[in-house]
Amino acid sequence: MNKRWIRRRLPVLIFTFFIILYVDFHLHTNSHPKLSAGHHPSPGAVHHTIQQAPSSPKHAQIPARNSCTSGNRQITDGHGGDPAAHGARVTQAKLKQEDIFIAVKTTGRFHKTRLALLLETWISRTKAHTFIFTDTEDEGLCSEGYNMVVTGCQSDHSQQALSCKMAAEYDSFMASDKRWFCHVDDDNYVNAEALLSLLSAFPQERDIYVGKPSLDKPITAHELLEGNSTREVRFWFATGGAGFCLSRRLAEKMAPWARGSRFEQTSATIRLPDDCTVGFIVEKRLGISMVHSPLFHSHLENLLLISHRSIPHQVTLSYGMFENKMNSIEVNGSFSKEDDPSRFKTVHCMLYPFTSWCP
Ligand code: UDP
Ligand code: MN
Repeated sequence: MNKRWIRRRLPVLIFTFFIILYVDFHLHTNSHPKLSAGHHPSPGAVHHTIQQAPSSPKHAQIPARNSCTSGNRQITDGHGGDPAAHGARVTQAKLKQEDIFIAVKTTGRFHKTRLALLLETWISRTKAHTFIFTDTEDEGLCSEGYNMVVTGCQSDHSQQALSCKMAAEYDSFMASDKRWFCHVDDDNYVNAEALLSLLSAFPQERDIYVGKPSLDKPITAHELLEGNSTREVRFWFATGGAGFCLSRRLAEKMAPWARGSRFEQTSATIRLPDDCTVGFIVEKRLGISMVHSPLFHSHLENLLLISHRSIPHQVTLSYGMFENKMNSIEVNGSFSKEDDPSRFKTVHCMLYPFTSWCP
């Protein structure tokens, strides 16, 4: 009796065992890659309620712009910002340099000075995934194969002109197949390896906005509401002059307030510049907290305080005049302060001593 029962049940048991094995195998192969332990970015990306998109859904106007052929091709190839198209590759693959879209904001009168220094130094190593947003055609730079995006934006330092360029940067990133958007000014040095390790330490499929605030407390803005009334809002923002990055997932969520002409409209709503507008969209519209990183630097801070030893770990550096004196990092090496006032060439030779022009 017992034997007969076992004989009858045995095939069922064997079948069940194989089903369990099959399900277990699939669960393992589909699971997300493990996050790297240690060096975790500070806890940010906290989700709160997602607010409603603006109620007047006008057709987004992408700022008029021309690009060099190479620039245009680089940007529009790929998956066109469709999250579904990124699918498995994005969740599985290890982050690579080419996955980071680096947008550099510049203007015609700085092509031969500020921009030339960047092209000679860090952009020489990141050319394929660096996109230069300007307001003036430059045949020379186009023919040298740089990804130039000539925006239809004004060339001044006004809130509107700078927001117009930031909108163009955002739209170009969205049209690309890149996984991270990083913005820098033309007085920033980007340490591409430090940037890659910073971004690699984040969970790749989260909403990340990382940079450094220039203030020690959230900024207060007066958001314009319907009927000309205003509402006080407080939020953190990453200083554009130090550079900041956004993960693709977060950039996609920003679209209702950032796509096409919406970015400039949002900027006008709070009457603050482009970098504040990014902080406003992320923190106030989406309820996601900025991740504060000490590795980004603008010339609004005292750059002398960065220790020589820590320079290879910094993600961005900067330089500029402060009270009629040059504010730059203190680093001894290949070039004198007269030959290299920004110290960018000296840093570059420290990081990459085999560069042809390094002494
Ligand atoms: N910029 C511009 N048009 C201008 C002046 C500046 O597009 O008339 C850009 C410049 O190329 C840089 C950014 O705006 O990327 C910030 O400019 P700057 O460093 O001169 O001023 P800051 O805001 O840092 O004081
Ligand atoms: Mn600056």
